[in-house]
Amino acid sequence: MKNASNLFVVAEVVDGHPVGLCHEMLGLARALADRSGGTVHAGVLGSGLGGAGEDLIAHGADTVRVIDAPIFAQYQADAWLPDLHAMIGQVRPDAVMIGHTPLGADLAPRLAFRLGTNVATGCNHVRVEGGKLLLTRPCYGGKAEEVVSMLSSPALFTVKPKCFQPCPKQDNRGGELVRMDSILDPASVRTKVREVRRDASDGARLESARIVVAGGGGMKGVRGFELAGRLADALGGAVGASRVACDLGWCPPSRQVGLSGKTVAPELYIAIGISGAAQHVAGCANAKTIVAINTDPDAPIFRYSKYGIVGDCHQLMPALIDKIEALRK
Ligand SMILES: Cc1cc2nc3c(=O)[nH]c(=O)nc-3n(C[C@H](O)[C@H](O)[C@H](O)COP(=O)(O)OP(=O)(O)OC[C@H]3O[C@@H](n4cnc5c(N)ncnc54)[C@H](O)[C@@H]3O)c2cc1C
Repeated sequence: MKNASNLFVVAEVVDGHPVGLCHEMLGLARALADRSGGTVHAGVLGSGLGGAGEDLIAHGADTVRVIDAPIFAQYQADAWLPDLHAMIGQVRPDAVMIGHTPLGADLAPRLAFRLGTNVATGCNHVRVEGGKLLLTRPCYGGKAEEVVSMLSSPALFTVKPKCFQPCPKQDNRGGELVRMDSILDPASVRTKVREVRRDASDGARLESARIVVAGGGGMKGVRGFELAGRLADALGGAVGASRVACDLGWCPPSRQVGLSGKTVAPELYIAIGISGAAQHVAGCANAKTIVAINTDPDAPIFRYSKYGIVGDCHQLMPALIDKIEALRK
């Protein structure tokens, strides 16, 4: 892959609206295309898309291909692939980017197979050097990073959330909106979504929260997370967790921060009873300020923290809550 002029962003929507990661991918695509006078294309499939196409143009796309049909109300890989493949065939991009979300992780390798190309997942840094697109992604469980350059075209990769700046929204930005009919034969779809259950824990708020109070094994149980919830409420933040805490059922999996969980980039990340394993830090390293509370002065989390408190979180959390609540009165 020698060039990165023409880029194609696969947009994911929730309730007809592009998710924030689409805007981050458009920011990245715009920066790459502007270097070489290229074009940013986007493709969106869904049902009841309303102004999704216009939103993508306002956030940096030059052309947006939209297919709005009831069959795309819920994501199903075998329903999406023929139309996405056709859209990409029309555009013939140098690179295709997809969000590193559960949907993207499912779709990207299938799409790569259809396109006869390779895929790099979970990219957190992208640059062009000597005309080559270089993709950085974590490997060895987040303990190292590798930089890959693709020999096949188009370069297909998934993009981690909160790693790239979105383009500022410009409502009067010009762009081409192409409304397409689906070429899908509904009989070819082998799966049927029977029910979608929304996670009642409001896990989506975690990624956009300015303050995250995250708990780990040191929380010792659900009671610890009740205190973390009170601390988060007092600060106007959201609760996150380590994998250990989620695996033990103290916190819903939608709250997991890290390599196999969510990536967050809040102003303030308070890591309580979290050791600071590489796989956890992979999800919070972009936080502006990390504060750690841990009984172990040698816990690795202190290496990433601007402020640290060595102490028992079960004594410290109630005291912090009281202090913050008193200050807010
Ligand atoms: C492929 C892979 C993917 C992974 N993905 C993730 C991921 O997405 N997210 C993630 O978090 N992990 C992930 N992990 C797991 C990761 O390696 C660690 O096992 C995990 O992060 C440890 O969680 P923890 O620090 O909360 O728990 P522990 O390792 O049990 O650490 C608990 C910490 O709490 C401190 N502590 C104990 N009691 C108290 C107290 N009373 N007050 C204050 N501090 C106390 C201890 O000193 C210790 O530092 C992954 C692992 C692999 C192999």
